[in-house]
Amino acid sequence: MADSRAVTVSPIRHPILDAARPQVLDAGEGLAQEQVLEVLALPDDALDALLALAHEVRMRWCGPAVEVEGIVSLKTGGCPEDCHFCAQSGLFDSPVRSAWLDIPALVEAAKQTAKTGATEFCIVAAVRGPSPRLMAEVAAGIAAIRDELDINIACSLGMLTPSQVDELAAMGVHRYNHNLETARSHFPHVVTTHTWEERWETLQLVRAAGMEVCCGGIVGMGESVAQRAEFAAQLAELAPDEVPLNFLNPRPGTPFGGLEPMPAADALRTVAAFRLALPRTILRFAGGREITLGDLGARQGLLGGVNAVIVGNYLTTLGRPAEADLDLLGELQMPIKALNATL
Ligand code: SF4
Repeated sequence: MADSRAVTVSPIRHPILDAARPQVLDAGEGLAQEQVLEVLALPDDALDALLALAHEVRMRWCGPAVEVEGIVSLKTGGCPEDCHFCAQSGLFDSPVRSAWLDIPALVEAAKQTAKTGATEFCIVAAVRGPSPRLMAEVAAGIAAIRDELDINIACSLGMLTPSQVDELAAMGVHRYNHNLETARSHFPHVVTTHTWEERWETLQLVRAAGMEVCCGGIVGMGESVAQRAEFAAQLAELAPDEVPLNFLNPRPGTPFGGLEPMPAADALRTVAAFRLALPRTILRFAGGREITLGDLGARQGLLGGVNAVIVGNYLTTLGRPAEADLDLLGELQMPIKALNATL
């Protein structure tokens, strides 16, 4: 006789997850904007199922390898732009002072990055766009790094002219980072000294010159959930090779210094939603995850759609120690992506 006390609990079904499985997991077709919005509106009790699906999608379309990158700031602070989240703007009262790194220090940073097993080293400068001095420093720095080690070199030097794009491509720059930062509709609330469209134009030039496109942004900057979905759709239209996803870490002295960090559940929902919108891209955990997600965040993200990390410190804030992330990759049996391997 059946035990009348036994109750079969049927898991709550979420139509968007049922739709995402065949569309994204089986067919590799990313979610559309309105579908991303449905994902971002899922209740907390659907979060585990969402992260599990995002992880399956990542494993199916990207594989288990994780791309590890180190970044170094060649020119820090004193930027003339007014990105409201950025401690490197010279227009705010933030404590980051203008400074240049010399070439030996740049080479040393690249060596330290390579020692962690990282295959990508990104040279960053806090500028609107490169000056002739910066282009010359980058050229000299890349040549000096190439003399000593084998690592992919990426750059993030702001908005570029067509001739600067060609120069960087000729230097062998593998990937160029230029973030759209946020949804087009929210951008004027974040930056007033240049436009979203100017950023978009640089990204098109980079792609046309044959460099890989790295483009992401920051969530938690006062955008609505609908604007988060809009941003995911705009990135999907751009189809970048890599999307670095940052969570706002409110920096003292910046206009966004008083915003609250994003709740952890929202951050994880965003990670998974971006993976479902961009099934094949390299989705990188970048700045702010420590403050938003704590120590557990790396694990949850890597099991929820992320397949790339930045090791060590970010540009103006401290990250987790490189060893902690590398140990975690070992534990999760996710190999570091080999140099020059394609996904
Ligand atoms: S985000 Fe870049 S362009 Fe904007 S203020 Fe900071 S360094 Fe300058």
